[in-house]
Amino acid sequence: MNEILIQNTTAFFEKSFGSAPQKIVLSPGRINIIGEHIDYNDGYVLPAAIDKIICFAFEKSNSKTSKIIAIDLNEEFEVDLTQEIQLSDVVWTNYILGVIKQLQDNGFSFEGFNCVFSSNIPVGSGLSSSAALECGMIFGIKELFGLKIEKVDIALLGQKAEHWVGINCGIMDQFSSVHGLENKVIKLDCNTLEFEYHNADFKDYSLVLFDSNVKHSLFTSEYNNRRLECEEGLSIIKNHFPEIKTFRDCTEEQVLSLKDKMSEVVFKRVHFVVKEILRVTEACEALDNGNIELLGQLLFDTHDGLSKDYEVSCAELDFIVEQAKKEEAVVGSRLMGGGFGGCAITLIKKGYENSVKEAFTSLYFDTFGIDLKIYDVKVSNGTSLYTTN
Ligand code: ADP
Ligand code: MG
Repeated sequence: MNEILIQNTTAFFEKSFGSAPQKIVLSPGRINIIGEHIDYNDGYVLPAAIDKIICFAFEKSNSKTSKIIAIDLNEEFEVDLTQEIQLSDVVWTNYILGVIKQLQDNGFSFEGFNCVFSSNIPVGSGLSSSAALECGMIFGIKELFGLKIEKVDIALLGQKAEHWVGINCGIMDQFSSVHGLENKVIKLDCNTLEFEYHNADFKDYSLVLFDSNVKHSLFTSEYNNRRLECEEGLSIIKNHFPEIKTFRDCTEEQVLSLKDKMSEVVFKRVHFVVKEILRVTEACEALDNGNIELLGQLLFDTHDGLSKDYEVSCAELDFIVEQAKKEEAVVGSRLMGGGFGGCAITLIKKGYENSVKEAFTSLYFDTFGIDLKIYDVKVSNGTSLYTTN
């Protein structure tokens, strides 16, 4: 599937600019096995890059002007690199302008380039098409102009670009897009950015994403509210336990002991965060031991926490996970990403994928009148150059 995307992007480039691209870059979306709403809370997460990608074709333009074409949107724009970069009204262009601005502000020097890109990452479903866009652009400019940028700095520059666009995201999405490895999940410490790979071996189970195909408008405001609620909770914890610097240092017992020192809402948020961080370590052990039934149970537990304590689920995602609990061939399922829509990551016993998909599709349509979208994903490599040999 990606070969066709690469061929089409290359052909579009040649048609647009009259020559073959000098560099082709592939930049993946990501899943997160467990550790949700944890990256901005400085805990552990367990993401992986996937085989859904944005393909970019680049050449130097040999002028001060850069032209960028988004094939999927049938839109293009030009930017003069000698002028000050400013936010535009056209949202997708801001991710690219943000990347250019971050590179310039951090002292990287480069000239005009032409770029064409196209993607098979569903947009806005929680698979981080935005991080793939940022990291692929930075990687392409780095390769084209021979800039020296470490992987981790590509991720950090991408995150800053996204902040500039207006989303106060954590580091997980960009980090996993850049550091992904085939068949490996990444246990990332979002506080120190230390990380280790674990085998993404789900044994007798397949990873399937059920996309609720909804995105409720609460997303942005509630995302920012959760950040504030967690900050409030952490400062109360720190007042009582000065040795604690981040949620990672905090035990569940310590949180429980402060239940009457914080509002009910703040307590629920921090209780979820501390338990979720512990679940990430348990999930790594389960994966290492090949205990996928335990991993699945942890996914169900995470979903319960996200739904009842963190309150970022919605009727559609709760419905999918409830069906998953009833279905014998499914060992685990949870909403993945920020919430209020997007996907449920689900582990289905091999051989039963099609029957579960069919059953869920018709139940979902009968209940909500919405088509369930389904993606099979493979754990794959991070942002890289595409070469034909
Ligand atoms: P996601 O969960 O997919 O990251 P976001 O809302 O964070 O959702 O980012 C999606 C935005 O990224 C889109 O609205 C668009 O501006 C940009 N984007 C992603 N993929 C593409 C693409 N193929 N072409 C143009 N813009 C894209
Ligand atoms: Mg995004």
